[in-house]
Amino acid sequence: MSEKKLSVDTLCIHAGWKPGNGQPRQLPIIQSTTFPYDSSDDMAALFDLEKSGYFYTRLQNPTSDAVAAKIAALEGGVAGVLTSSGQAANFFAVFNICEAGGHIVASNEIYGGTYNLFGVTLPKLGIECTFVSPDASDEEIRAAVRPNTRAFFGETISNPGCRVLDIERFARLAHEAGVPLIIDNTFATPVNCRPLEWGADIVTHSTTKYMDGHATQVGGVVIDGGRFDWDAHSDKFPGLTTPDESYHGLTYTKAFGQQAYAVKLTAQLMRDLGASPAPQNAFLLNLGLETLHLRMPRHCENALKVARFLKNDPRVAWVNYCGLEDNKDYEKARKYLPQGSCGVLSFGLKGDRATAISFMDSLQLISIATHVADARSCVLHPASHTHRQLSDDQLREAGISPDLIRLSVGIENADDLIADIKQALDSI
Ligand SMILES: *Cc1c(COP(=O)(O)O)cnc(C)c1O
Repeated sequence: MSEKKLSVDTLCIHAGWKPGNGQPRQLPIIQSTTFPYDSSDDMAALFDLEKSGYFYTRLQNPTSDAVAAKIAALEGGVAGVLTSSGQAANFFAVFNICEAGGHIVASNEIYGGTYNLFGVTLPKLGIECTFVSPDASDEEIRAAVRPNTRAFFGETISNPGCRVLDIERFARLAHEAGVPLIIDNTFATPVNCRPLEWGADIVTHSTTKYMDGHATQVGGVVIDGGRFDWDAHSDKFPGLTTPDESYHGLTYTKAFGQQAYAVKLTAQLMRDLGASPAPQNAFLLNLGLETLHLRMPRHCENALKVARFLKNDPRVAWVNYCGLEDNKDYEKARKYLPQGSCGVLSFGLKGDRATAISFMDSLQLISIATHVADARSCVLHPASHTHRQLSDDQLREAGISPDLIRLSVGIENADDLIADIKQALDSI
């Protein structure tokens, strides 16, 4: 049966690893750095990319490849590459097609680590980024495009702002500019949204979050949608459409067609920069993926119950969750995320920083942790944790209100979570 016809639920369980007669039911952990060959010629053909096969785990490993293939099937892409973190995935996704002298356009509603990567670190490599608001008009976004623009970037649901991106519109504007749209789909996961179906070209994830779901490994993935026509924009993407001297003059689009982008990422970036995951971590990620379709609906259902409770409590100043009817992104969430968005929401308490701290310290079941999208619920107060060096004014400039508490709702019983929040509010 072709994988294209199977539902996401079934793919979560069966895609990637297909055991043959008498082979292990569960994906084997091939914890080996290297793979020996009978003849020198066999090995040489691999190094020339003439044959596919394994030779060194920095480039490819069978366990990691099976998990990447599962995620590619879930997203509806043609190929995937696992990386050792979500940060590495976003860096590789951009750097694979944008080099010194290049430029990208990114939504300014994105994860802080990615914002820093694009705004501070990429410029050190000669790559510039123009940030645009997801609410900017088409004209404003077109004005951000330059002759050297090589990609658009955004998050399906932003971390931590919970903004929903109008993926179709960003895809249209990216394609108008002759460049691909890269979407970080970490918070939605392919269970709730498949950006390639809305016109995105490349999808990334921090697999550390829902895909793993149990806080066991840090990882990332880049999925190639296989549809962007690199040859039609050859002047912009010579790395894909002209000979690579480091592989005897092979041209990726000619040799690998739809998978050119993914093969180049493995052959050049993994070879030269590393950032490959441990096979053991790929195995742990796969265990998480086997229940992703069961966990996501529960995260969403719980988050909506908690958001509604907070909204009705007089001690709560505001609640931001894109699943709430009065949220500014509710209509976009209904379009792109009809089955639910994610388990992450944010809110503010009436009072000051001290009120937020007192509330968090009183929580008993929900823990204080620098993590989101885990089976266990947790909170973080950026003003006292990740951004503690900033003043209230500086926080507001960074788009974070000083009272913002980020709550990642897990898959416990919702009534237990609400009871914990209630007793903490009572004890402020
Ligand atoms: C956490 C996160 C990242 C970074 O991933 P790591 O696995 O921590 O490196 C990137 N994007 C989003 C949306 C995230 O939530």
